[in-house]
Amino acid sequence: DAYRQRAAADDTNSFTWLADDPTTAGAGGFGGEDRGVPGADTVLAGLPVAIKDLFCITGVPTAACSNLLRGYRPPYTATVVARLQEAGATILGKTNQDEFAMGSSNENSAFGPVRNPWDRSRVPGGSSGGSAAAVAAGLAPVALGTDTGGSVRQPAALCGVVGLKPTYGTVSRYGMIAFASSLDQAGPISRTVADTALLFQHMTGPVDPRDATSIGWGGADELGLPTAERLDGLRIGVPVELLGEGVEPGVRAAFDAALRRAEDLGAEVTDVALPHARHALAAYYVLAPAEASSNLSRFDGVRYGNRVDADDLVSLYTRTRHDGFGPEVKRRIMLGTFALSSGYYDAYYGRAQQVRTKIVEDFRAAHEQVDLIATPTSPTVAWKLGERVDDPLAMYQADTSTLPFSLAGVPAISIPCGLSEGLPVGLQLSGPVFSEQRILEAAHALE
Ligand code: GLN
Repeated sequence: DAYRQRAAADDTNSFTWLADDPTTAGAGGFGGEDRGVPGADTVLAGLPVAIKDLFCITGVPTAACSNLLRGYRPPYTATVVARLQEAGATILGKTNQDEFAMGSSNENSAFGPVRNPWDRSRVPGGSSGGSAAAVAAGLAPVALGTDTGGSVRQPAALCGVVGLKPTYGTVSRYGMIAFASSLDQAGPISRTVADTALLFQHMTGPVDPRDATSIGWGGADELGLPTAERLDGLRIGVPVELLGEGVEPGVRAAFDAALRRAEDLGAEVTDVALPHARHALAAYYVLAPAEASSNLSRFDGVRYGNRVDADDLVSLYTRTRHDGFGPEVKRRIMLGTFALSSGYYDAYYGRAQQVRTKIVEDFRAAHEQVDLIATPTSPTVAWKLGERVDDPLAMYQADTSTLPFSLAGVPAISIPCGLSEGLPVGLQLSGPVFSEQRILEAAHALE
């Protein structure tokens, strides 16, 4: 009730929908059984979770913050949400995001921008901006976001909270509206590393037969809650490639201070090379739009969401998509369709795939030398609303530090590591695939 009252009085536009009764919201999904009010003996009993609008929940408005899906109520629930419900969690509401998770500032939402609770004239980051802002403002104790190229880590950094992008495949994508399927992962957002670990335990588990890329891993048996207070013997690598121009001096100072704290706790900090990381942005903005152009072809006015009627089928498709999609989504579909068209496929998509492989190899080589890799999560602190909306390239550059890790499929966390000009700075810590426990322990010690 306390969180419901706070969320109802929200002045950051973090929520797109609030449950009347969180304990029964979404009941009846996932196989059709009505799970009713969770028992008091379950691990997350009664815990209200704010859920990004990208996750389908039975009977609950789910629009991915797009006009195309406004009013859509799915007949099923995303596996990750169902798993949290089975552990006793309840659904506080749906949170604002960039349309179909495309963006870095939450300004591409059909439900309007979210305001950063630290300074309401600034963006919260994106695309999981509503989830990060809701947790930062104390409107929800924990939230679910999704991360394709940085969308959990970057808003967590800009809002001064914790956000984890898990190893690709560890969390089922079933029921999460697809953006770029080879990159999309759900991730927890919270105020503390322990809360992120607790949520992650219950998001993972056995293989989900409904997601062919899901890996049976994690769960409370395999993942413990972090307790580390020291970092003795831990080797942390700092990639010079991600500390170049564009990193604000105040961000750099907070990052350097975090590295010194790590050394004080016993870690050994060295340089590490990621020679192809500087190509990640270019490769991502070919690959992600290519996958998006294919995934979003299902929104044709026939099967899902809103339809603009027309006299013939092709006009029905084009008018539905013309009216339903916002400008950034259209830009991505055009970019992706172009990159995949015959004659250009090898030059763009094929080439970007090769770059992705080089980046994966860079990470493998780096992890022969170090246990974890550290960077600032975002090169800048939260910027002013409107400042980058007319400059897509400047917006895309917000992701330079998070994208290489996404392309490599490795886990990465962002934790707060100080302030610059009174605004939060995030520290990104990453490790090899399935090293979540190591990352969470290190993050806990540094928190
Ligand atoms: N900002 C990046 C983009 O616009 C990443 C988004 C995400 O991770 N969903 O594609």
